[in-house]
Amino acid sequence: MTTPPFEPASDADIATVSEQLGRPARDVIGIPARCACGAPTVVATQPRLGNGTPFPTLYYLTHPAATAAVSRLEADGTMAGYASLLDEDPAIASAYRAAHLAYLSDRESIAFVPEIHGISAGGMPNRVKCLHALVGHALAAGPGVNPIGDRALAESGWSPERCECRPASGSTAAH
Ligand SMILES: [Zn+2]
Repeated sequence: MTTPPFEPASDADIATVSEQLGRPARDVIGIPARCACGAPTVVATQPRLGNGTPFPTLYYLTHPAATAAVSRLEADGTMAGYASLLDEDPAIASAYRAAHLAYLSDRESIAFVPEIHGISAGGMPNRVKCLHALVGHALAAGPGVNPIGDRALAESGWSPERCECRPASGSTAAH
C-alpha cells in the first residue's frame, strides 16, 4: 500500500462533516479538499465500510454551499451537455477515461476491494451520472485531472477560495 493521496481526517473534521451531512459521518478516512476557511469540502470514505459493504465513491462533496450549487447544475440539465461533450470531443473523452483510472488508482492505494474492481464513480469512464461525485474528484485531485468535474465546478459558481460556510451576518445577500 502506498500513502493515501490526501490528509487524514481529525475528530474535529469528522464532527464538521457530520454537521454538514446532518447525520453521523461514518468510515471517513481523509479530507482531500477544504474550503478557504479550512472546513472539509470533500471527504474520502473507506473502500469497504465498517459493516463490510463495498463503497466505490472514494471522494464525495459534503460542503453544503458546494453541494447546493452542484445540485442546481444537475437540476438545470447540465449533465446532458456534458454527455454530448464526451460523445463529440475525443480529447475530453480520453481525459475522462484517464480520470477514471486515476480515481481507481487512488482508491486502490487504500484498499483493493474485488467487488468494485474497475468501478469508479459519477458515471466514469463513459457516462455522466453524478456531478457531486465528479466535482468531489475534481476538488480532491486538483485542476486538470477530471475534465467534467472541472467544468461542473467552474459552472456551479461555487469556489473553495471564497468561504460560504456561514451566512454573513447582517448581509443583504439573501436568496
Ligand atoms: Zn468556509
